Amino acid sequence: MKITDIRTFLMQAGKPSDRAWASDAKGHQGSRNWLFVKIYTDQGITGVGECSGWPRVIETAVLDLRSVLLGEDPADIERLWQKMLTAQMGHGMTGIVGAGAMTGIDMALWDIKGKALNTPVWNLLGGQVRDRIRIYSHASDAETALDLKRRGFTAVKTGGVANPLQKVEAIREAVGDEMDVMVDLHGPPWMTPKDAIVLGRALEPFHLLFLEDPVAPENIEGLARVQDHVAIPIAAGERSATIWGWRAMIERELVDVIQPDTGRAGGISQMKKLAGMAEAHHIMLAPHSGSLGPVAEFAALHLLAAIPNCLMLERIEDDWPGRYEVISESPKQKDGHLPVPTAPGLGVDIREDVIARHPSTVNVSIAGGGYEPGTEGEHVYVQTRLRRAASFKRSKGKS
Ligand SMILES: [Mg+2]
Repeated sequence: MKITDIRTFLMQAGKPSDRAWASDAKGHQGSRNWLFVKIYTDQGITGVGECSGWPRVIETAVLDLRSVLLGEDPADIERLWQKMLTAQMGHGMTGIVGAGAMTGIDMALWDIKGKALNTPVWNLLGGQVRDRIRIYSHASDAETALDLKRRGFTAVKTGGVANPLQKVEAIREAVGDEMDVMVDLHGPPWMTPKDAIVLGRALEPFHLLFLEDPVAPENIEGLARVQDHVAIPIAAGERSATIWGWRAMIERELVDVIQPDTGRAGGISQMKKLAGMAEAHHIMLAPHSGSLGPVAEFAALHLLAAIPNCLMLERIEDDWPGRYEVISESPKQKDGHLPVPTAPGLGVDIREDVIARHPSTVNVSIAGGGYEPGTEGEHVYVQTRLRRAASFKRSKGKS
């Protein structure tokens, strides 16, 4: 079999939330994009993949890598991955763009291999450890968390640095002890390890499943200090890519849960290697969603089905109805789990007509996400300290 063509499908992916990353109060359109990749072969089999991360930029990288892959045998996934990696060496480190491009291509190659051998991708990765994957969704208030619980979810995450204590307090009180609760601090660049430790300790009584990105992910020494001083499992890794991006976190056991994004980690091949590295250190995988689109979610389900150290998968179920329209099949949530696909390959295809109806317009956060220093971000920081102090006083008063 030979690769005859590689095409890209870029789209504006609606409005994931009311945060500035997606849209802002001035009516700017949501900035999330999805980029799908399709690989064509001389035997008529096609493979589909997804590159989330920075899709408008990654599209150019995919098209640049096209010439590296044309005429190659799509079965040689590892050799082609290494060929793509070394093809980019002259551009410096691979980073999220190079890894993002390789992610979609690698995913499509696994899809082709599965279809050619008439078996699901999870079977090629070692077979099933489980036939359904536990998922969690997001809630910023008790009402939303309760609604998720009613719909069968067994875990919920809340986020933000402005008032996480109050949010967790309200959510825990509403959902009780039988639902897992997590907190994402989003690792803003100005979050100091000392602040993260104080906040983490205040969150200890709520028995969180994990505390995510307590400091900026680049702050490895800061992460080490938080890990040493906070008695909550620490999660991180959504912004990294390739096995080298997580090496220090894993080898130094700075995290208890690693959160690669299946749409930008470097592909299913890299995710499988990462899972092995993590397993050796008793670290669980809980892949990130957020910018993640529906094809990469399928890839995550196959991967998580085949590894022992799957904790769960992030899924923002209500982000945008278009999520369920751009693909041929959609896994349905039941009892807080998604079923593992059973069709050959990834078991999903894209709907090109739907994608064409949502042309990409912008792919950056116009309003900066509300974290930028010097403006709103600074206020958030100050409010964090004030609210935290107030909450501390309250909880001390109770006991
Ligand atoms: Mg996060």
